[in-house]
Amino acid sequence: MISVTKPFLPPIEEYQEYIQGIWQRNWLTNNGPLVNQLELELKDYLGLKHLLYLSNGTIALQIAFKALGLSGEVITTPFSYVATVSSLVWEGLKPVFVDVDPDSLNIDPKKIEAAITPNTSAILATHVYGNPCEVDKIQKIANKHGLKVVYDAAHCFGTTYKGKSIFGYGDISTTSFHATKIFHTIEGGAVITQDAELLRKMALMRNFGHTGPTTFEDVGINGKNSEFHAAMGLVNLRHIEAILKSRKEQWLLYRELFRDLDAQTLDLLDPEGYNYSYFPLILPNEQILEKCVDILQVNYIIPRRYFYPSLNQLPYLNTQTTPISEDYSRRVLCLPLFHDLSAETQQMIARFLLRVQNN
Ligand SMILES: *Cc1c(COP(=O)(O)O)cnc(C)c1O
Repeated sequence: MISVTKPFLPPIEEYQEYIQGIWQRNWLTNNGPLVNQLELELKDYLGLKHLLYLSNGTIALQIAFKALGLSGEVITTPFSYVATVSSLVWEGLKPVFVDVDPDSLNIDPKKIEAAITPNTSAILATHVYGNPCEVDKIQKIANKHGLKVVYDAAHCFGTTYKGKSIFGYGDISTTSFHATKIFHTIEGGAVITQDAELLRKMALMRNFGHTGPTTFEDVGINGKNSEFHAAMGLVNLRHIEAILKSRKEQWLLYRELFRDLDAQTLDLLDPEGYNYSYFPLILPNEQILEKCVDILQVNYIIPRRYFYPSLNQLPYLNTQTTPISEDYSRRVLCLPLFHDLSAETQQMIARFLLRVQNN
């Protein structure tokens, strides 16, 4: 069976080396040496000043909202993974959806200002599929209206914009190192900021607000990650260049194979800096999409309807409409893309999809 993604596992001996050290130190979690080393190596690799390693990408969003003191309404995108929006609702914030740009499927900056009210405290945008939002335009709007900017950069490991890590944009960027992401630590995530005071606040928040064994400055939560997860990250980081390289080749091969397919592919903001993390195919309609899913599934290939449904239609929201996101989410399909996907498999997938079109 071929799934939309397959977690990368490094040679087991490389992981075991780190595990040996954990046994020697008997230090399993709570800001251990491997967590510290991973933070340093990530900052170095990505060229970032501050980064905090957390237990997952969802707690990263929740800590970011709390650290920025957000309240009331947050302008956000309906086209993302559910965690972007569910974390707002979980924190008692009201998502206000702004529709997406049909070329990138990222939030459309032209439509943001109309959605701002006196209760708006921030803009939360996702760089969907690892392709950056129009960050300059979004920042300009935020500055004009005194709003905070948070980016859900869960798909963006390795993406750069104008030569700089995309994680460096916004007041805070969050990311996920979940097993299905291009760089992973099994479970894991991070918050990134340029602001030392925000960093300090988030560091306290990830550890229950402890400032000492018996002192607490503010309310916190458990956002820590373990030495075992950090070890996986340290090993995977050694392989990331090879992973990014193969991903780019696979992505370009798909695009070539689908030259004659009646489907839209992604418009990249900065192709030089793209991490090629997902290959979404936007089909002419949902019937064709369903036929594509069917023909792949009977051949043991499992694509994913990333991202469906449009998040404004979540059963616990469902009061706003965003026609472009609703339309695209019904006909977008992400094809398998992972480190050892073979060209033969990609060619086979292309033959199946072209067969649907020609029937
Ligand atoms: C994966 C993902 C998350 C959640 O990250 P976890 O580490 O699984 O909690 C949030 N937002 C987006 C866009 C994602 O793809």
